[in-house]
Amino acid sequence: MNQVINLEKDKIMADISKCADGLCPSKEYCYRYTAPNGMWQSFHNFNREDDADNCDMFCTNGKCKYCDQINGVHKMSCATQKIEIRL
Ligand SMILES: [Zn+2]
Repeated sequence: MNQVINLEKDKIMADISKCADGLCPSKEYCYRYTAPNGMWQSFHNFNREDDADNCDMFCTNGKCKYCDQINGVHKMSCATQKIEIRL
């Protein structure tokens, strides 16, 4: 399971361009924005609509947008956690 996830990540990392949209509401949660500088040399403007939470090219960096935890871990107070408990 972990191996599959890692392979997908490698594939994504190999061919993405960094995002330069500093106004994007999802920038802290998007790998295109938060990836370390120097990994890619190209920056793109992904044409996010002004009122959109993110663009079509949004690529999660694993950080939860509700509780700021990473790698699938959530705080007890996280909205995602509450949904999972109900299910
Ligand atoms: Zn969370």
